[in-house]
Amino acid sequence: MSRSVLITGGSRGIGLATARALQALGDRVAVTYRTAEPPADVLAIRCDVTDAAQVDAAFKEAEDAHGPVGVLVCCAGIAKDQLLMRMSEDEFTSVLDTNLTGTFRAVKRASKGMLRARTGRVVLVSSAVGLRGEAGQSNYAASKAALVGFSRSMARELGSRNITFNVVAPGLTDTQMADKLTEAQRERLVDQIPLRRLGRPEEIAATIAFLASPQAAYITGAVIPVDGGAGMGH
Ligand code: NDP
Repeated sequence: MSRSVLITGGSRGIGLATARALQALGDRVAVTYRTAEPPADVLAIRCDVTDAAQVDAAFKEAEDAHGPVGVLVCCAGIAKDQLLMRMSEDEFTSVLDTNLTGTFRAVKRASKGMLRARTGRVVLVSSAVGLRGEAGQSNYAASKAALVGFSRSMARELGSRNITFNVVAPGLTDTQMADKLTEAQRERLVDQIPLRRLGRPEEIAATIAFLASPQAAYITGAVIPVDGGAGMGH
């Protein structure tokens, strides 16, 4: 069955890989982007998730093209790494505003149609760092940990309407976000990963696609790590 899917932050990386995976299953997929447009074979909608009006407009555009959004994947995210003593309040709050409040804005907007339809799938992209913490990433880790509490609250709030909420927690994944690491940082992090390599965006996308699939109908409030074992025990 073809569903209407909206993926925030789908211009590249994990979001775009998820768009490709769901398109391959026959879904009608729209992705949002903020700066660089994604490839032409996916419906691209410009939308900054820090602005509720833009989120609303993006949903309208996706719904006009593909029908009510039945699957929401929240992938839009940023990192502004800094040690606490040097971190400005803006570096802290802007990461929270995109990663956490941006997700709240998209989920709130999506829930309207899902409540009406009495069904829906929501997958939030967190991070292994949100569970185990990382020096220099207190803002990012706080935003990603908060997604777990948010998702589990929503799972309880909307479970009776057959709307599922799940979190995928990727480890270090080979995208533009990971390109910002120095070679030394990358080597140090890879050393901590039992599988001794970065994840591929397609490997994260496969788990997101599963959580959005009919086979996952009885899974809600889950946090699934896709991290080569990096977060084990957290
Ligand atoms: P990318 O940087 O490649 O992609 C991030 C996406 O989010 C881009 O499409 C970007 O678009 C979009 N985005 C950022 N800010 C906003 C905003 N305010 N409004 C709308 N869109 C926005 O990173 P990844 O693919 O790696 O990351 C995807 C998700 O996975 C993120 O939430 C990230 O935190 C998470 N993650 C990534 C890991 C990694 O190692 N790569 C590990 C664990 C989690 P634009 O640049 O145009 O703003």
